[in-house]
Amino acid sequence: MKKELEKLLQQAKKDIESATTPKDLEAVEVKYFGRKEGQLNLILKGLKDLSAEEKKEMGAKANDVKSHLQLLIEDKGQHLRGAAIDAKLESEWLDVTLPGKKPVFGHTHPMSVVQYELEDIFKSLGFMVLDGPQLESDYYNFQALNTPEHHPSRDSQDTFYVKNKAGNDKLVLRTHTSGMQVRAMQKYGAPIKVIVPGRVFRYEASDASHDNTFYQMEGLMVDKNISIANLIAIMKVLLKGILKRDVKVRLRPGFFPFVEPGFELDINCLICGGQGCSVCKHRGWLELWPCGMVHPEVLKAGGIDASEYSGFAFGLGLTRLVMMRYGIEDIRLLTSGDWRFLKQF
Ligand SMILES: [Zn+2]
Repeated sequence: MKKELEKLLQQAKKDIESATTPKDLEAVEVKYFGRKEGQLNLILKGLKDLSAEEKKEMGAKANDVKSHLQLLIEDKGQHLRGAAIDAKLESEWLDVTLPGKKPVFGHTHPMSVVQYELEDIFKSLGFMVLDGPQLESDYYNFQALNTPEHHPSRDSQDTFYVKNKAGNDKLVLRTHTSGMQVRAMQKYGAPIKVIVPGRVFRYEASDASHDNTFYQMEGLMVDKNISIANLIAIMKVLLKGILKRDVKVRLRPGFFPFVEPGFELDINCLICGGQGCSVCKHRGWLELWPCGMVHPEVLKAGGIDASEYSGFAFGLGLTRLVMMRYGIEDIRLLTSGDWRFLKQF
């Protein structure tokens, strides 16, 4: 039995030595000291066949072996638990002195930047800023603006018609923000000063300077004794405010059913400086916006007495203005959502 105990001690020492995790160690403990199958207990079963003297000696020897091994297991256990904690700390280590990751913030779209600036300029001149429906009735988009059905000028504003179950009035994706002229006059009466920025639509093949969706800003001022001089003065304040530089402009006659007389306001192309490029179709001039004196029929539709009041209106090409301001050569970039393009602003 003495030999058996010696052998057990040596083998157990080796097992403890080679344990690499707390779990291994637990298995070693069970192997030698387990209540039922533990090897020490199996050896001690032989005690009953020994003499009293031998029992005493072997009992003491067995206790020595057990306490010796338990000490070794305890030691090794502490060592393994320490190593596990070290490994965990190692895996969770981070350098708090490293610079942080910068969060990426979005910013205002160039269309909105210019729109808000324009709104500020107009508000400083006493204009109201209105919003209007993008799905407009045929009446407000055309008829109230002195453009009856079958009027040839509708051809240049071909758009998307939408079936209207509710009534007889056809709905259109508005071709201009001008539909709000009559809506505003009906609601607020005269005198009135409003602008209406917003999205408009055309049935149009897209190229560098045309798209099926773009932005306009309608302007309307109605009061007593309003003349073309007032229109030109407002346009000058506006262009200087938004382009931040002096630009050459020209007014040339233009026909729009809802103004009389009507004009086209052109500016010298800021992209090519008047030399001619794809944006200005090699003319050197860009048609910026149509304008003119509000037609008496339109005032009448708005419920305003044309013999007492007069006014001017303009449909400012917001998208084109943004392209001029930033030197953008392709209108389609503005609605592309391309981050490489947008992050430049
Ligand atoms: Zn040009």
